[in-house]
Amino acid sequence: MTQDIRLSRRQMMGAGLALGGLSTLGLAGCAGVARGPSIGHVVVVGGGFGGATAARYLKMWGGSIEVTLIERGASFVSCPISNLVVGGFKRIEDVTRGYDGLKAMGIRVVQGEVSAIDASGRRVRLAGGGELAYDRLVLSPGIDFMWETVGGLQAAVDSGRVTHAWKAGPQTVALRRQLEAMPDGGVVAMSIPRAPYRCPPGPYERACLIAAYLKQSKPRSKLLVLDANPEIQSKKALFEKAWRDLYRGLIEYRPNAEVKEVSSGSGLVARTDFDDVKADVLNVIPPQRAGDLARSAGLLNMNSRWVGVDWLTLEATAAPGIHVLGDATFPAPAMPKSGHMANQHAKVAAAAIIALLEGKAVNPTPVVMNTCYSFITARDVVHVASVHQFDAAEGTFKPVPGSGGLSVAANQIEGRYALSWAENIWADMLAI
Ligand SMILES: Cc1cc2nc3c(=O)[nH]c(=O)nc-3n(C[C@H](O)[C@H](O)[C@H](O)COP(=O)(O)OP(=O)(O)OC[C@H]3O[C@@H](n4cnc5c(N)ncnc54)[C@H](O)[C@@H]3O)c2cc1C
Repeated sequence: MTQDIRLSRRQMMGAGLALGGLSTLGLAGCAGVARGPSIGHVVVVGGGFGGATAARYLKMWGGSIEVTLIERGASFVSCPISNLVVGGFKRIEDVTRGYDGLKAMGIRVVQGEVSAIDASGRRVRLAGGGELAYDRLVLSPGIDFMWETVGGLQAAVDSGRVTHAWKAGPQTVALRRQLEAMPDGGVVAMSIPRAPYRCPPGPYERACLIAAYLKQSKPRSKLLVLDANPEIQSKKALFEKAWRDLYRGLIEYRPNAEVKEVSSGSGLVARTDFDDVKADVLNVIPPQRAGDLARSAGLLNMNSRWVGVDWLTLEATAAPGIHVLGDATFPAPAMPKSGHMANQHAKVAAAAIIALLEGKAVNPTPVVMNTCYSFITARDVVHVASVHQFDAAEGTFKPVPGSGGLSVAANQIEGRYALSWAENIWADMLAI
């Protein structure tokens, strides 16, 4: 198979390709490419939980497949564990890892933004100039926000006065700094969008860890949780118990309180249908949809929000040949939008892509699983786990009856498991 790659000098240097100017070249001559005849070139866009795992497993299982990973960030910053950064119990460096492990495997890692996909020509275009041809394309672009659904929110976030902190990185640090700067006796308000959104228990974990910080350092303060949903979306009894036993008087939970508008003029105000909530620190988690690239590529065929996929190959139903993973997908029944699940999608897709490139049949009975830990305090943790088996009759994954489970109570052993889970999944996806 013939592939070509056209990248700017900066992108080539970032990818470890010592070539000048904008040029087109056959990949067989590039550093890090496996010896032996290539069975194809797979371009993976997005170096998060889904994309990095897919790149690694394509290379590990596919051997002579050429793999290019394109990621806009210089390093990977994990959302899991980032609520501990918000609470002041970890630093952002603790949840940041590099891509050197993937590079060492012979994967080309290009730092850049993919601005367009030419599906019929099987090429992706980079925002900084240059294009790459592919035989198969994997997209794991995560989520982007539906700013238009909350009046004033984008301007308030752009101005730095309000945070979302739902993509880990500078936003996480900004929210932490605002909490630190708030005087004792202040009001923190955080809002949760209607499901589905990334990480169902994540906002409730965040509430616990903000409350843990306030309890320890600013005990006269208050946390208002404005939930657009009628009730807590995951591990409900466990979060309710924590709020009752550990954070009574600190957390006030308001269900059916959808934030419709935000004002960040003289003071911070979140408007719901019933109230104008004034806050000293305002954290609004916006409604979400599949990442912008999936939208501009015309892949959002489920409620105009998510990408429908064929679960045996993870190919977008709107564009076979483009495999979409992780949060961007329209989920199978009871399948959460989680890093763990994105990692599992990636493995199903990697095995299927290798089979397709080799002209073999794909696995007809994949099984995936998920475990999601939530910190109740800096040390005490609860989990929920599930197993999902592909059901050929219905063409989708379904939860396996009797599988999975839920913690009985928060405990410190699971606190250690949660931190190990994070280290292990980062190692699994990034080859570190
Ligand atoms: C606070 C919080 C806590 C969480 N805790 C957990 C947890 O405990 N366990 C768990 O399993 N999950 C957790 N999650 C959910 C988890 O983070 C997501 O489900 C996971 O990141 C989804 O993986 P993904 O590959 O779909 O997207 P991401 O991991 O977001 O990766 C997408 C990547 O694509 C890149 N990208 C997007 N568009 C382009 C483009 N055009 N060009 C180049 N690069 C691009 C982005 O920069 C990003 O790196 C949590 C989420 C949050 C917000």
